[in-house]
Amino acid sequence: MKVASIFKSLLLSLFSLVAFAAPASNQAPGRTWITDVSIISPESLDHVGQGSVLIENGRIVSVERNKSAKTPAGATVVSGKGQFLIPGLIDSHVHLANLPGIGFDRVEGKSEVIKAYYKQQPRSYLYYGYTTVVDLAVFDHQVLDDFRHAPLYPDLYDCGESLPFANGYPMSFLPPATRFKLFPNFIYDPKQASSIPFEYKPEDHSPAAAVARVKSSGGICVKTYFERGFGQDRNLPVMSPDVLAEIRKAATQAGLVLMMHANSFEAQQFGVDGGVDVLAHGMWHWGDLDKKTELPPEIRKLLDQIVEKKIGYQPTIQVLQGELAYFDPEYLKIEAIPRVIPKEMLEWFNSPEGKWFKKELTDDDTPDAVMLKAYDRGPLRRVRQVVAYLASKDANFLFGTDTPSSPTYGNLPGLNGYLEMQQLQQAGLSLAQIFRAATISNARKFKIDSQLGTIEPGKIANLVLLKKSPLESLDAYDSIVTVWVHGTPVSRDSLAVSSNK
Ligand SMILES: [Zn+2]
Repeated sequence: MKVASIFKSLLLSLFSLVAFAAPASNQAPGRTWITDVSIISPESLDHVGQGSVLIENGRIVSVERNKSAKTPAGATVVSGKGQFLIPGLIDSHVHLANLPGIGFDRVEGKSEVIKAYYKQQPRSYLYYGYTTVVDLAVFDHQVLDDFRHAPLYPDLYDCGESLPFANGYPMSFLPPATRFKLFPNFIYDPKQASSIPFEYKPEDHSPAAAVARVKSSGGICVKTYFERGFGQDRNLPVMSPDVLAEIRKAATQAGLVLMMHANSFEAQQFGVDGGVDVLAHGMWHWGDLDKKTELPPEIRKLLDQIVEKKIGYQPTIQVLQGELAYFDPEYLKIEAIPRVIPKEMLEWFNSPEGKWFKKELTDDDTPDAVMLKAYDRGPLRRVRQVVAYLASKDANFLFGTDTPSSPTYGNLPGLNGYLEMQQLQQAGLSLAQIFRAATISNARKFKIDSQLGTIEPGKIANLVLLKKSPLESLDAYDSIVTVWVHGTPVSRDSLAVSSNK
């Protein structure tokens, strides 16, 4: 090698070192020594002990599990005496552009409240310890861009624009004139050529082309759907196994995680047969077996396959609770609500017009108690039986909330995660299972575990300090003291709405 080229390569490697070490906007420079704290990290749950964690330039540098470790020079010391340090939580199923309680056809005249909601949203996730979120279906890039440019925000990954089957769920909810514009990454169906606008060419909407668009937009996952629909939208078109196989093949080649919206026995069977990586909902529709009070053997057989293949499973029980919120007179009184959404938004939820979605859930004046009971005996019972069975087999649960399962006001950012954890516990998950689902299991399935999911040297310093242990009680997740976002410490109180002026 000539001297000049040695010099050149030295310069290059120096340059890349500098570039690597320079703190990005979301990082705190300097060193912090969190000491005298119980370290709870999912890869070593059997030896939780007192120790210290050194963070520097937004990364975890060392983890000392003995009490006598010396304070590193120049470090800011944070005593965690009597407290618990966990990795930042990951919610792997959110929809950042969706507005809780509003719905896209009701945005007129609400621009100020919508602006305030989007501004608060990243803080509300952090308020409940979520330092990473995955948006499964992008359709408003501006909202995601703004989120990433907030002064403080959780790490955001996404699945790009989702892949609905032409005229199927969920594009079917929109009028034919707008559905193709809002879901431009749909999969073409030659059988429906007459109901697909002429400007969309089959070759641009093949599974390979759609997955390629997700990849080039920077997505880490692909989201598709199998849903025949309900109510007036029954018998929606769904993809064949051949189409799913093509999506599977393209996603594998692109290194993307394949996720499927599937909440029925039929849909989850379809997804498992097609080799998806993640089922994005719990199974609350059992089809012809809906009335069976015990878990039917044919469903158990499918759940065994889900366990054996380690398919990621997101129960999203709060999707159902989100609908029930309209029949629960206590819901809008939850004390934390004014801390996670703007005051004006809550006022509107409390107004008669703000309850418009309730009328879409019941077509008559059914008493609230009757609705609550119907859910409890129907879909909620079924999903709880499924989740209990999967928990008993230690399935690969992934923590995801589907916040907000639009257009309900029953799923609010951050808070909904805490409510979902309560649902999971009630359905039979242990505290350790919930903890792993929201940390290491999510990180591994989405292939971000080299950066996130545990408290280990080299990882991003996304950390949460709690007054209580999450292995002893669920309300630990509501006892947050400090959240570190890429090494920047933020007190929980400062993340609440009243502080966001
Ligand atoms: Zn969703």
